[in-house]
Amino acid sequence: MKKAEELDRKKAAGHRLGKLAAVPVAIKDNIHVEGEITSCASKFLVNYRAPFTATAVTLMEEEDAIILGKTNLDEFGMGSSTENSALQRTVNPWDLSCSPGGSSGGSAAAVAARLCLLALGTDTGGSIRQPASFCGIVGVKPTYGRVSRYGLVAFASSLDQIGPFTTSSADAALAMEVICRHCPKDATSLSLPPELYTRYITTAIAGQRIGVPWQFLKKANTEVRSAIEQAMEVYRQLGVDVVEIDLDILQYSLAVYYIIATAEASTNLARYDGIRYGTRSKRAITLDEVYEYSRAEGFGAEVKRRILLGTFVLSAGYQDSYYRKAQKVRTLIIKKYREAFSQCDIIAMPSAPTPAFEIGAMKDPLQMYLEDIYTIGVSLAGLPAISTPCGISSAGKPIGLQLIAPQKEEARVMRFAHAFESATHHNIALPPILNEEHL
Ligand code: GLN
Repeated sequence: MKKAEELDRKKAAGHRLGKLAAVPVAIKDNIHVEGEITSCASKFLVNYRAPFTATAVTLMEEEDAIILGKTNLDEFGMGSSTENSALQRTVNPWDLSCSPGGSSGGSAAAVAARLCLLALGTDTGGSIRQPASFCGIVGVKPTYGRVSRYGLVAFASSLDQIGPFTTSSADAALAMEVICRHCPKDATSLSLPPELYTRYITTAIAGQRIGVPWQFLKKANTEVRSAIEQAMEVYRQLGVDVVEIDLDILQYSLAVYYIIATAEASTNLARYDGIRYGTRSKRAITLDEVYEYSRAEGFGAEVKRRILLGTFVLSAGYQDSYYRKAQKVRTLIIKKYREAFSQCDIIAMPSAPTPAFEIGAMKDPLQMYLEDIYTIGVSLAGLPAISTPCGISSAGKPIGLQLIAPQKEEARVMRFAHAFESATHHNIALPPILNEEHL
């Protein structure tokens, strides 16, 4: 409220207001806001106060956004349902018995429930696109390096990217305009001039080509597949050619991701030792006990599973057969995407293999990992992608269309999504709970 009053005064005094003036924004709780807790939804960090603000948040504040608060996630971003949060439970506004997706489920649910207009999430292997799909909203995963990771708690450093959730691609373009800046505090930040995404979002797409890996989608859920087929029909009517491309290599992407991401996580999470970071165990007396008990008490089951797996694939005897091999296949995935883009301007596929599932339905962690099949290849290749709503399942749950472009072409994914939204208006469907008769 204080910030809103400040903006009122600024306006009354005739000063220029920023691009995000008075826009209420929520921030995934693995991104720093100085002086506030950054819990990463972990018991370990419930008392950890951020010593500085993340660049992405600073950029939004400079454009007069109002930061409302932090949102729930799977602990350290590890999961696809937000059920791995040690602190809160988040449900899907479309169906309160269902998961909002994850790991940025809190941010997606907040925008879907219209609690805020914009939220930041992070995507390491799909954590923006999949919850956007589950919650019937728009989510953008920028090119790796496009948005500064300074102030984002690291999960898998070669994959992590911050990106926006909104209810339209036009809004996403505005948010992206603000947060996509070179940042000297992040060594992997791309040194590119800022782009005015909003200006080019309406540029015509007729005459362009969309590639769809139909063969790879053969086993997809029938409702999801038919929503994608219908979406391609919409594009054909907009004058776009739909061509088939080969991305069968993506069948290996899950294995590759769960080796590389866990390897990186196991090293990134070594810093939580109960001394520099993390709550110290009260039972610990010796130094070894401080490490051992603090980590045993602080981390949840999924995080421990990943540290164990990551440590294993990096260990002396296994590094070549797992970690190095995964790196090689990652390079092949990058190459295959590049080849695919020689045949089309943009690639389309579902954002998630199914609509939102019930909370508690995914009992086996491996089954949960399968949720990421359509999003993970993009992360491994560092590509920009968007998820925009493309229909509602027979059970009344949103389905998401994912559009993928070559590196640095985030403008293209937003343009294609905008054309689709303008033709279908799927993105403005409200969760039934928000319809007037319920209010
Ligand atoms: N679901 C994937 C995982 O569990 C991706 C998570 C993410 O993008 N943060 O690792």
